[in-house]
Amino acid sequence: MLKEKNKTKKEKWLNERIENKRTFKYHQNVLFGITCTTKIECVETGDIFTIEYTKPKSKLRFAPELVKQVRLNMFKKDVWFKSRNKKKTDLICSNCSREYENLDCDIGLMFIEGSLNKHVCFDCGSKYILLGSEDVEKKINEAKNMKNALIEKIRGLGNYNEPGYYSKKLDDMGLDDLETLYNEKKSEKEEWDRIESIEIPESETGLEQYLIDEYGVIENTKWLKCVEQIEGFFKDCGYDLFDCGQGYAQREATAICKIGLKFYEVTIKAEIGSAKQDRGDRLYWVENIDSVDYKEVDKPLPKEKTSFNYKITLSDDKKNLLDSFLKKNQINFSNK
Ligand SMILES: [Zn+2]
Repeated sequence: MLKEKNKTKKEKWLNERIENKRTFKYHQNVLFGITCTTKIECVETGDIFTIEYTKPKSKLRFAPELVKQVRLNMFKKDVWFKSRNKKKTDLICSNCSREYENLDCDIGLMFIEGSLNKHVCFDCGSKYILLGSEDVEKKINEAKNMKNALIEKIRGLGNYNEPGYYSKKLDDMGLDDLETLYNEKKSEKEEWDRIESIEIPESETGLEQYLIDEYGVIENTKWLKCVEQIEGFFKDCGYDLFDCGQGYAQREATAICKIGLKFYEVTIKAEIGSAKQDRGDRLYWVENIDSVDYKEVDKPLPKEKTSFNYKITLSDDKKNLLDSFLKKNQINFSNK
């Protein structure tokens, strides 16, 4: 606040510069040391005037252009008093020499080119900032706000397909990493939403029985709605397509899937795990699906069938084995 005496002086000074010598009141406090503008309002008419003028640099101890940065509120007042060794210069503002004890503010720090850092009161620090010094506290707060906003945005994308993901410590990440992460997650979410919104018309779903019996065609209207889902689908569910067991292993499998009206041949390659058994051959299993490739193919046609007659002499257990083999491989047969 301006002191009453100064205010009157300033108003007088301003009035002399306005035609008609009307009465004015201040709308903003005036800064010293710089060319600044202030708004004044004519009490009689309500007209607003903007006036530019310069005040002497009486209260600036350091050249403003050398005060590169100011960090306001860097030290809490009580902490400052506890941690300093109470030199007289530590107890007064380096700029205005007022005692911190009598001021209602925390203590800031000025980074001055070619000189030691100087501690400073809030008012003086603010003045240097208005004169062009970088406001470090503002910058820190802005970065903090940006970071929080980004974290909010990332969390807002939801835990759509990576539940473990959000346990990562977002708070510990830097702004650049968060930005990258957000963009990555945003495109994933968009892709996810796009796939979610795909609806295959009912007229395009359904499989003729021979496609299932003769080709094992797979159709899944929830998890196989577009080609982008093929890889994920078979990486999750492709394990059953491999024939592995004691003494044998299959490293590559193929399948046909149907999406809408189109058919795709899918080739899946797996990493096989194995373990030595107490007796007999090693046991093999699919450890991991390494790759899934696909290409569009024509709709498979019903296979041509010819009747064969075999006459086989078998014991009961061998006959059961043959029957189950034929059934498992979906080979229709009749025996009388
Ligand atoms: Zn000061």
